[in-house]
Amino acid sequence: MIKLTLNIFFKRFKAITILPFIIFKNKEIRNDEIINRHEAIHIRQQLEIFITAIILLTLVNLLFGIGSIWSILIFGYLTYYALYLLEWIIQVIVPGGGAYKALSFEKESKANGDNVDYLKKRKLFASFKYISK
Ligand SMILES: [Zn+2]
Repeated sequence: MIKLTLNIFFKRFKAITILPFIIFKNKEIRNDEIINRHEAIHIRQQLEIFITAIILLTLVNLLFGIGSIWSILIFGYLTYYALYLLEWIIQVIVPGGGAYKALSFEKESKANGDNVDYLKKRKLFASFKYISK
């Protein structure tokens, strides 16, 4: 992961993770261990979904001849963000959903940001167990 500090586009957020970057609002936040672990969990989520999507898209390519290496990489990379957006839209539509804070990816990161050993013990796709919890 590559850590950056940029104070240009944040109002509501302290940090944002876009694989392989973690962008912090300022240096104080960049040094906050809980926020660092929260964003490191997002890196893990994004990596596992990226790799899974690449595998599935490659299988589709091999079986049906659909897609190229570039489309596989681009769609693979965008899959996490598409799932994030889809879940956000569903949360907005569902009454009492709570949108951002109700997202499974955010719930997992928030619930475990203070756990130093979480990423060592985390199971694959652990965020899915936070869906509608
Ligand atoms: Zn987050």
